[in-house]
Amino acid sequence: MSLSTPYATLNEFSRRGIIKTLQFDKTEDRYEGNLEEHINLICERCRKILDYRVLIMVDQRKVAKKTGFSVTDTSLEYYGLCRECREEKENI
Ligand SMILES: [Zn+2]
Repeated sequence: MSLSTPYATLNEFSRRGIIKTLQFDKTEDRYEGNLEEHINLICERCRKILDYRVLIMVDQRKVAKKTGFSVTDTSLEYYGLCRECREEKENI
């Protein structure tokens, strides 16, 4: 078996948007079923949106296998108060 075969398969998956290619360094691409994502932290007071980077441990391939649904993107939102708005609130 050729060593290039798994990579060709992964490239194909990546092209279809099933998995994303995660760049860990400049020379090597690593493939993960999990998407490196971020949670949008949305301030309900000033509407500022902060990014909270997190590795979401959901195997997209299993989702596709079980449901036939191909995940191309994800979105997570947390609502609350940002630091500035919290501090303002405490000072009142
Ligand atoms: Zn705020």
